[in-house]
Amino acid sequence: MPKSVGSEIGEMMHHITPRCTITLHKASFMSSNLYIPKTCKHCGKAFTARTTVTKYCSDMCAKREYKARKRNEKVQATLV
Ligand SMILES: [Zn+2]
Repeated sequence: MPKSVGSEIGEMMHHITPRCTITLHKASFMSSNLYIPKTCKHCGKAFTARTTVTKYCSDMCAKREYKARKRNEKVQATLV
């Protein structure tokens, strides 16, 4: 009886492993293989971009730059 339980767990492990491998393959296929050395437009930090349009090292910098630009636009609008 305990023997069959052990083989059942072993079979479960066999089922889990290939599924993980497939997910990993999918993930590497989904992301691009591009590595473009760039400098962040917000903080000036050097980073590696995965797409040609990336301007910022992180989401945070992109958001901060976006907010700063929005604020500048508002200031410009009040000045004119
Ligand atoms: Zn940055």
